[in-house]
Amino acid sequence: MASIDTMLGLIGKLESPYITVHQERCALVRNRHADCLRCAESCASGCISYDGEVLTVSPEKCIGCGTCATVCPTCALEAHHPSDAALTAAARASLAANEGAAYLGCGELLERARGRYDEEKIARVECLGRVDESLLADLAVEGAREVVLIHGDCERCDHGRGRACAEAVVETAEKLLEIWGAPMTVRFSGKLPASAKRAADYDSGRRAVLAEGAALAARAGVVVAETAVTEALGDASNADAEGALVVDARDVGRYLKVMDDGTLPHFIPDRRERLLDSLAALGEPEDVMVDTRLWGHVVIDTDACASCQMCAVFCPTGALAKFTDADGTFGVEHRPSDCVKCRSCEAICPEHAIEISEEVFAVDLLGGVTDRYVMRPRAVQHDTPHTIWHKAQTMMKTDQVYER
Ligand code: SF4
Ligand code: SF4
Repeated sequence: MASIDTMLGLIGKLESPYITVHQERCALVRNRHADCLRCAESCASGCISYDGEVLTVSPEKCIGCGTCATVCPTCALEAHHPSDAALTAAARASLAANEGAAYLGCGELLERARGRYDEEKIARVECLGRVDESLLADLAVEGAREVVLIHGDCERCDHGRGRACAEAVVETAEKLLEIWGAPMTVRFSGKLPASAKRAADYDSGRRAVLAEGAALAARAGVVVAETAVTEALGDASNADAEGALVVDARDVGRYLKVMDDGTLPHFIPDRRERLLDSLAALGEPEDVMVDTRLWGHVVIDTDACASCQMCAVFCPTGALAKFTDADGTFGVEHRPSDCVKCRSCEAICPEHAIEISEEVFAVDLLGGVTDRYVMRPRAVQHDTPHTIWHKAQTMMKTDQVYER
């Protein structure tokens, strides 16, 4: 597994006009033993890869498809090609232009069809792996009866791994739409809709594509990406002579300085908030359990638990949070609606007392319900000035802890 030094040094290289990297959110930056790298497993361009031993980031290969941002549980990677706001606007425009249907098309197909379709009627993404559940739920709230994801030849496409991501997103969205009683359907199609055809420009558009050559057209997105990334790296003040990004130890301390209660900083990813807002706007869900790629339900074996509360320390969203009552009762509370199923708590627990259930109650997602796990007093008190624990706590509240 990649170490914290490796992940910090490498993940920063992804920063470009296409991708913003929030290093402090990455599960592996927060805990080097976290079991993640979903970005490397799903990267559609080979930009992030992991062969079981070595993690490699090749920013020049990034096409800005945003698939990594879709699979990242903590939204440590944020896509800008287009941004979520721009893509939502384009999808809503497609919905308005197509009377109840929204079309989202992949760049590979749309590039081949350039000039032959009305660009306002189809929102473009480089790869369908860019589409996430919050976008689909937003379209349901906007009254879409159908969303069509238009793909090219995924099996032959150099970026075909994004298709599996898109299928996982559609599966999740379909479950949520059914539970919330929304009548919208989502389907894939390999064809552009006839309603989007630009009759007047058809012949000239076709001639233009033939003149450019299909190979040149297909490569256009990659050339743009390389240029943009090279410019970004060239401007980076923290690039060394070879162009590799150097991470200042003090930056790491800044990213990960521990808060007063001893936990790492928390955040709720924007996409999750938007998705929950859209689901709330759709109304009340059925009172059923839902199993999706998005949320988890933490179950703690309190007999095995050693009361260290490290799960709450590393939880990125605060879905697991410490509590102490006036009578001294203490433990952690779990809020499934804030859980992003990153599995950081499971990975950090020294007693293997945590399991993540894949199922959550749909009503709990909107109700903000919490579960309480009361812990037994620790056999050894850690908060006295002469213990290693106290020393480490003091160091972690300064920048010293990550100095090299
Ligand atoms: S998917 Fe996100 S959290 Fe997981 S390793 Fe990649 S950047 Fe970090
Ligand atoms: S409760 Fe566990 S799985 Fe859920 S967000 Fe927190 S650390 Fe990740």
